[in-house]
Amino acid sequence: MNGPSACRMSGLKILVAGGSIGGLATAVALKAQGHYVTVYEQALTPDTLGAGITIFPNSLRALDALGIDTNQIKSVRIKRLIRTSIEVDGSANTVGDEIEEKDWPWYQTTYRDLFVSLWEAAHDSSRPGPRIDVVSSKSVISIDPVKAMVYFSDGTQAVGDAIIGADGVHSVCRSFVPGGSFPRFRIKRHVFRALIPRERLAKDPRTIKFIEKEGDAYCYIYQERSLLITPASNGENCCIKFLYEDRMAFKNLSKDWRDPSSKLKLLRLADGLPEECMALFEKISDRDLQDQPIWDMDPLTTFRSNRMVLMGDAAHPMPPYCGQRIAMALEDALALGVLLETATPASEVDERLMLYSATRKTRAVAVQKTMRGLSESDMRNFATEFEAYSFHNYILGHDELEHMAQALRVWKKQRCLTQGSSESLEPRQQRPAQVWKECDEDKKKKAPQPMSPSPKKWWSIGRQGSKTWSRVFSSAETPRSVATTS
Ligand SMILES: Cc1cc2nc3c(=O)[nH]c(=O)nc-3n(C[C@H](O)[C@H](O)[C@H](O)COP(=O)(O)OP(=O)(O)OC[C@H]3O[C@@H](n4cnc5c(N)ncnc54)[C@H](O)[C@@H]3O)c2cc1C
Repeated sequence: MNGPSACRMSGLKILVAGGSIGGLATAVALKAQGHYVTVYEQALTPDTLGAGITIFPNSLRALDALGIDTNQIKSVRIKRLIRTSIEVDGSANTVGDEIEEKDWPWYQTTYRDLFVSLWEAAHDSSRPGPRIDVVSSKSVISIDPVKAMVYFSDGTQAVGDAIIGADGVHSVCRSFVPGGSFPRFRIKRHVFRALIPRERLAKDPRTIKFIEKEGDAYCYIYQERSLLITPASNGENCCIKFLYEDRMAFKNLSKDWRDPSSKLKLLRLADGLPEECMALFEKISDRDLQDQPIWDMDPLTTFRSNRMVLMGDAAHPMPPYCGQRIAMALEDALALGVLLETATPASEVDERLMLYSATRKTRAVAVQKTMRGLSESDMRNFATEFEAYSFHNYILGHDELEHMAQALRVWKKQRCLTQGSSESLEPRQQRPAQVWKECDEDKKKKAPQPMSPSPKKWWSIGRQGSKTWSRVFSSAETPRSVATTS
């Protein structure tokens, strides 16, 4: 056995670059398997700046598997969506849709509440597994994926059995995978996000309606701009997401979540929205406002380089629709926890990370492309062509725990038969037919069948003809993704 784990009884030494949602979720998943995880975060202090996050069923399942429930993230279930479409002449049309949990489980949380829950889980000594070390103010400047070494801006370095690149959209680790230096780009849409404390809205008769009824969400559509107002933090906060067309899309290519934003710009762009919306915007304090570009990138061909893999935004930045950017980061974290199971020998890390890359890439890239398609069609206002059924089943009905456990079972069987040949992890046709026959039978027995209706599955929303995705969110006048930008 090589590497730092050679002298330990069990447990790999895993270095995670980036300590946001993806990095912390990965650390929690790996700790549970008995690994020694160190998270290196460039920020000086834990950064809880951020606003609303949509939690749909696949995120809920991933959080549940990480031992985090909807109460811990102080989420609020959305029970009614009130949509107002405003015409150029100023006339407005408002409709309300009741949202039943069995049809459409939609929760809203905030970046802060999700981050804090993961942070607490990572530091919870009652959870089984070794202590997680989170080192802040530690900037990764380079890595050696073969030796699993990380180099920091302060001149120090660390060595482990594996590196997880969870360093976000401007990832340093990404440049070490083939094709990882291809440019990321911004779509022509920006999003303003903000949090407003409930009491500020309660004092003003123009804004009180936004907090009056628990679980009410509001959506305004006006000339390529849209505003979503949702409750979060157990109703203590109101989240604002204001999407607008960005005509300066190629400026500020490295803009970060922490960069300051301009309220003046927000008010100028919001001109034309009803008085209650302008009153709402006035109540945002400057420090709680973010003006974010939306990043995208052509899919990578692999998420791995030797003993380093990418996860979250570093692997698949995508338009933040339907809460799937965060969902994919949580699924990646779970997948790593399943693959690097308890007592994984250091000698198998390479191959298991290869399996992670092959398996996660297929799904994440499909979701990435769907989200890109949705966001583009939304901008052109033909989002109604979107196929709700496969969205429900493939994206929201996914269970990563089962998915990756199945992939691991197949890999183990295959490995037994091929006696450790790592080549066989690549395309399916290269694998021995016998293994696949066996695995397919095994799959039929054990794997979940997300494409077939199952009344037991609580996420089987929209299948039985009650409220579907399209009925809840779309109409000719209202692009549905407005309501679901995470
Ligand atoms: C402060 C903050 C606030 C956010 N708020 C929201 C929000 O309100 N709504 C929403 O939908 N999404 C928000 N996001 C984005 C969301 O967290 C991600 O899109 C998604 O969860 C995927 O997470 P990630 O961990 O892969 O990437 P990110 O969340 O981008 O995290 C990457 C982390 O890596 C760190 N990092 C980057 N480079 C290095 C380096 N070289 N060395 C060490 N550390 C490094 C960054 O500081 C960051 O903490 C926010 C992200 C951040 C960082």
